[in-house]
Amino acid sequence: MELWVTEYQTPALGFSCKISETLRTEQTKFQHLSVVVTEQFGRMLLLDGMVQTTEKDEFVYHEMISRVALNSHPNPEQVLIIGGGDGGSLREVVRHPAVKRGVLVEIDDRVVQAARDFFPDLSCSFTEPGAEVVIADGIQYVKDHKNTFDVIMVDSTEPVGPAVELFSPGFYQNCFNALKDDGMLVVQSESPFFNENVIKMAYGGIKKFFPITKLYLASVPTYPSGLWSFTVGSKTHDPETVKFTEASSGRYYTSDLHQAAFKLPGFVQNILKNGE
Ligand code: SAM
Repeated sequence: MELWVTEYQTPALGFSCKISETLRTEQTKFQHLSVVVTEQFGRMLLLDGMVQTTEKDEFVYHEMISRVALNSHPNPEQVLIIGGGDGGSLREVVRHPAVKRGVLVEIDDRVVQAARDFFPDLSCSFTEPGAEVVIADGIQYVKDHKNTFDVIMVDSTEPVGPAVELFSPGFYQNCFNALKDDGMLVVQSESPFFNENVIKMAYGGIKKFFPITKLYLASVPTYPSGLWSFTVGSKTHDPETVKFTEASSGRYYTSDLHQAAFKLPGFVQNILKNGE
């Protein structure tokens, strides 16, 4: 008998992968968590039935949420990640030569444990020098830390459950306050094909507080529609300008791609115009 896992990306679209094994399935305090082995993408972490990361394509998302901000800020010494309990973004952060401290604030300790148990290439970051893992609500954490960070990354689940407020103007204002005078915020802002309203919420909410607000794109095959967006809010530095080319290249990210990622298709430009 064949076993398949399906994420219902919209009420009318399912994304299915054939699986060979279920490694974990549990209800945590916050969400349903499962780890399965897929033939196509290797190990896959799902929360509430939605794909969070896979062994095969994690590099795209993790490089792109991290390196764009890290390579356009001149001195990203203190970095905060909200969510991201799989450890992939923290791996990128602590490996950047300018970073002295990378703090990961994840609300669900079971996600961190699943990463430790099943995703060694991501969770290797937890024990790197400069890495701190805090199990707490990121919303409260940013309220409690003013003028502290050079870069904040919001590596969150979609706006459901404990992540709803992570897409609100009040949260973006608290991120603005938690950043130093030349700080930069980057958030994952979902698919321009399927989540127009999330993009408008993120882009519009960030633009209220940050003088420079820009959106960029990357291709992540296991995320809904395969085309993913990230929104940056910056106090002073232009996120399109690459500053650290020697530390730049990864498997997806290059300094050319950094700039190209900000060139938006017409329909995405229209989403931003209509959201203002
Ligand atoms: N890359 C993924 C994506 O775009 O689907 C996100 C991965 S990461 C696993 C998302 C994490 O955000 C989850 O582990 C979830 O527990 C965490 N999270 C949700 N709300 C949170 C909050 N308020 N504070 C801290 N972490 C939160």
